Amino acid sequence: MAPIFGDPPSDGTWITPIDRGGITVPDVPIVGFIEGDGVGPDIWRAAKPVFDAAVETASRGRRRIAWWEIAAGEKAFAAGGNYLPEETFEDIKKARVVIKGPLTTPVGGGFRSLNVTLRQKLDLYCCIRPVKHVPGAPAPVTRPQDVDMVIFRENTEDVYAGVEWKSGSPEAAMLIDFLRERMGVSIDSLSGVGVKPISPAATKRLVRRAIQFALEQGRRRVTLIHKGNIMKFTEGAFRDWGYEVARDEFAEHVIFEGDLAADSSGEIPPGKILMNDRIADAMFQQALLRPREYEVLAMPNLNGDYLSDALAAQVGGLGMAPGANIGDSCAIFEATHGSAPRYAGLDKVNPGSLILSGALMLEHMGWKHEAQLITAALSRAIQAKTVTYDLARLLPGAREVSCSAFGRAIVEQMKALQTDAR
Ligand code: NAD
Repeated sequence: MAPIFGDPPSDGTWITPIDRGGITVPDVPIVGFIEGDGVGPDIWRAAKPVFDAAVETASRGRRRIAWWEIAAGEKAFAAGGNYLPEETFEDIKKARVVIKGPLTTPVGGGFRSLNVTLRQKLDLYCCIRPVKHVPGAPAPVTRPQDVDMVIFRENTEDVYAGVEWKSGSPEAAMLIDFLRERMGVSIDSLSGVGVKPISPAATKRLVRRAIQFALEQGRRRVTLIHKGNIMKFTEGAFRDWGYEVARDEFAEHVIFEGDLAADSSGEIPPGKILMNDRIADAMFQQALLRPREYEVLAMPNLNGDYLSDALAAQVGGLGMAPGANIGDSCAIFEATHGSAPRYAGLDKVNPGSLILSGALMLEHMGWKHEAQLITAALSRAIQAKTVTYDLARLLPGAREVSCSAFGRAIVEQMKALQTDAR
């Protein structure tokens, strides 16, 4: 069937897979995009010229992205009566790399959430959220620059698996009876009940990716975050299986915290990665008190949801936090905020989250200079105090500009960076 929004561009070439989840990216790759709902089209209009300018500038015209629109959300519903048509999943798999704006959860549309459906059906098991202060961005702590962490959040299991039943439903009553009669567990008969599955396979593939990332990026610490002191067989097992991956597959690269303490220097030996774990509540304190001691954090779904927002807020970037959902066959890079329907079409909100997600996408494609150019130019625009309303109200002396003008300001800063470099 022909794609709802048209065939893939004929002037581009497909991204192809290589071993171990890697990809080969041609000079003019076809990259999928989903505008998204609400403010999605506003931020996409501001972000796309930034991506195009970064690629053209950094590659001196050698590279270009052939954008391919993929159907999802309200635009797909208007075109074909379905928020997530079957071919959307096929198209995303074909493109392998996709960037998306936020999608509104349809009320009564039969979806728990379009985003969760995409992640689950495409098995995008690894949610990556880098958290780093953008110089110049207003932040609530005194030293936001001390935070430079990358969160690896498991994306398919935990209480997000959607295995739950409503209080008073026949299913909840059946499960409560079973637990009472067969397992000897006492639960109030009117409880709502949910199941929290955490498996060795899903845990290990996530932690494996986190350790591989640390090795590739020259990061020195990987921390497993869990609540295993209370939920021993789910969160505690996550910690145990995480350590098992480190021991079984990366023995020559890692050193464990216990072994480090026995060593008199306390320093991480050269060429090694320190593997440790923290209980989730303690990690919230540590993030505020000793942020420099943490680099790559791997955790189950719910912990990851909480901690990524808390850390993003710490660096002042809740409206600018980038995110990626990655599986073995494809990856979706996305603005982490929602569709903010109140602001839809006003050309007002901050496109920073989508723009930084695009930088993350270019890095994933191996286009590192392009990615760096975007983050540097964005930071310069903020330092010049040319910002959207959300940042303007926190930055004394700022000049408030529209969403699209902020995008243009970033492109201008790119040109200035090039001139400075000459
Ligand atoms: P939201 O993030 O859309 O908006 C909450 C508030 O945050 C907004 O009113 C606005 O004040 C602020 N905000 C959001 N994005 C901003 C930006 N780019 N710049 C400046 N300020 C910004 O959260 P919500 O209102 O809870 O959700 C609206 C819809 O989005 C819901 O249908 C929800 O399910 C969906 N949603 C989608 C995603 C996603 O696609 N990844 C994520 C979260 C929520």
